Amino acid sequence: MTDEEFERLYGRKPVRAGTRKRVKVYWGRVIIALIVFVLIICGIWQLIRTIYNKFKKDDSSAFVVTSTADTETDSSLGDEQSSVAEDSSSEPDTPQRATWQFKVCIDPGHGGADGGACLYDTDNNLIRAEKDDTLRISLAVKDYLESQGVSVVMTRDTDIMLDDNTIDQDLDNRCTIANDAKSDLFICLHRDSVSKDVSGFECWVHNKKPDMDTMLAQNIMTNLQAVGISNNRGVSYGYTNDHTSNYHVNADVVCPSVLCELGFITSELDNNLFDTNLQAYAKAIGDACIDTAKELGVVDDNGKRVLNEQLISRSKLYYPLESYYSATNPNRRNATTQERTSN
Ligand SMILES: [Zn+2]
Repeated sequence: MTDEEFERLYGRKPVRAGTRKRVKVYWGRVIIALIVFVLIICGIWQLIRTIYNKFKKDDSSAFVVTSTADTETDSSLGDEQSSVAEDSSSEPDTPQRATWQFKVCIDPGHGGADGGACLYDTDNNLIRAEKDDTLRISLAVKDYLESQGVSVVMTRDTDIMLDDNTIDQDLDNRCTIANDAKSDLFICLHRDSVSKDVSGFECWVHNKKPDMDTMLAQNIMTNLQAVGISNNRGVSYGYTNDHTSNYHVNADVVCPSVLCELGFITSELDNNLFDTNLQAYAKAIGDACIDTAKELGVVDDNGKRVLNEQLISRSKLYYPLESYYSATNPNRRNATTQERTSN
């Protein structure tokens, strides 16, 4: 059949092999389209993840928001912690660092006109004063605890005495700060001194041997030992060479309290350890506070507060706690004071 006969019969021209028009594939455009498609899918996936994380974060951080109002830890959150919180928003599987919802009062021993134990050279020039060492380590403990979201109260954060007249009143004022702030734990930091060549770290607790205070002291000693100390002199009760009396702060502070002697200022070995390990000791003491708060049920393992009221070491109090907090009680400032002595 000729082409003319075919066209007459079928109304169109016949298609001959080899004359079909080839379809040209533009591979470059296909690849670009695929890339754009993948990018759009990734964008949608990222958007879904962001929305999911936002809802999840709002839900899990509910207790943090309420707690910061109670414990004043909001402003104390360090830069490091803030960045952790930001990072966790893009990584939903990374657990947020806990904010430990309890309050520690830190008391740097001595201050101002009361230098504590002092070290002099042969020309009677002051080399080292206890009041400076106690302030340095106390501020380091404060920084560490606040970086963990713990609320901290300082009895002093500069070189001052808390009363111009007597050391007894100065110590009373320290106890008042701790009690009025409703602290859950109290740590009083000192350096020891002796004329002989003696070294070592120790903690002092009320002579009624209260369980809570003892636990705090033992946790501190365990952690200090782990960092490295010259000699672990352990936990003692009462007052040096007189176990019938107590350090003023251990007698009058109503929450669990410990007085720490962080090595002898008269020992070169202890002074070197103190200077070298200052940050590590601060972390050790801070972690001991967090561990104790967990063990005593003040907070749960995530840092959320469980105890409704202030933590009180009732077994060491001479008078009912209510008498201390009664504003009408004329002996308010000395409600628990009996058989105590100055630091
Ligand atoms: Zn001292």
